[in-house]
Amino acid sequence: MLLENESPQTACLCGSEKPYHQCCFPFHCGERYPETAEQLMRSRYVAYVKQLSPYLLQTWCLKNRPENIEFDPNIIWKKLTIHSKKKGRKKDREGWVSFSATYEASFNILQLKEKSFFVRDKDLHWCYVSGLFEPL
Ligand SMILES: [Zn+2]
Repeated sequence: MLLENESPQTACLCGSEKPYHQCCFPFHCGERYPETAEQLMRSRYVAYVKQLSPYLLQTWCLKNRPENIEFDPNIIWKKLTIHSKKKGRKKDREGWVSFSATYEASFNILQLKEKSFFVRDKDLHWCYVSGLFEPL
């Protein structure tokens, strides 16, 4: 699950400034579950960067889960910025996170802005329901 040239000390790609092994890695390897919707959001972004389909599928709400995920080979994810969040805390059952993700495609730097909706599944783990694209 480590990318080439990446040590466990490398800053997590979610932008938290914590080392990967203390941030999203425990979620990716199933050692722990995200406690907040934002943690799930961040770990799912990193899973897109690292193309960890099993993690993305597993954290997708059952009723909306696609059969598989195809990664666009022309996209290089650069950065995640969290703009705002509503609920999604330890005591909540649902939550929203607005973010933008910067990526490079065909030598252009582009941005995707989305508001994602998360709920807790039957085991009370956070899962991704859907996202609304927002105008930039
Ligand atoms: Zn992280």
